[in-house]
Amino acid sequence: MDCSICSALPYILRPPRNTICGACYEGARSIITLTNKLDGEKGSDKTRNTTVSSSNMTKGFANVLKWVKEMKDIEDMLNEKISYLGGFAAAFKDQIHNDIQVKPGDNGPSVPAHKALLASRSDIFRNILDSDGCKAPPNDTIILHELNHEEVESLLEFLYSGDLTKEKVEKHVYSLSIAADKYDIPFLQKFCWQHMLRSLNSSNALDILEISDSCSNQSLKETALNFIVRNMEDVVFAARFDPFAAKNPHLTVQITRALFMDIKNKRNGV
Ligand SMILES: [Zn+2]
Repeated sequence: MDCSICSALPYILRPPRNTICGACYEGARSIITLTNKLDGEKGSDKTRNTTVSSSNMTKGFANVLKWVKEMKDIEDMLNEKISYLGGFAAAFKDQIHNDIQVKPGDNGPSVPAHKALLASRSDIFRNILDSDGCKAPPNDTIILHELNHEEVESLLEFLYSGDLTKEKVEKHVYSLSIAADKYDIPFLQKFCWQHMLRSLNSSNALDILEISDSCSNQSLKETALNFIVRNMEDVVFAARFDPFAAKNPHLTVQITRALFMDIKNKRNGV
């Protein structure tokens, strides 16, 4: 069908050039429904400082264009805000006015940081740095026994900037996820889980199952378990399975049960 929206050469169509194909019609309807829905949510969110108003609902495509422009303004403002807050990352990188050393557990060199930032990012760090009346707060050093030097550096980089390079996430995602759990840093935990979900494959599924179990992330655990059942041969005959089974007998039992249920369901045509 000749479509005045998605045709590569719309000007060759006969006037009035206002016919559209089913895909464009459905796409337009979906976009209008989505923006009206998001508009409504924002209109009802009194705590959010936004210029989007719910009075524009159901005004069709004109409202969509207005909405997109407003979102672009909000995006620009948020980007400026991120850049403004990036001053913390610069203070960490340039080691300005440090007042605490974060020592890794592997006897590697300490990493200089700021008490106020650590306390603001994690209640656990705040408790460690606060005096609780019976124990003096650490003057100039805290030790993160479970992390090596590189992991401490990556943890601090994330606490200051809210982000990490792809290489660092890939290398340290499991230790950072455990640290996020231990020191109660939900944003880092979410960041690690999203990376694990995106990168789930036969070679890391057992690691992700183990981490999601220890951090009590049921949704990620089920995803990893289902993936393992679907790719049983690759996972079970890999060298990694033997040490995994020795270390995690309860998870090996759960894999066996999940596999059994999968076979049973397939046999019963579920
Ligand atoms: Zn079309």
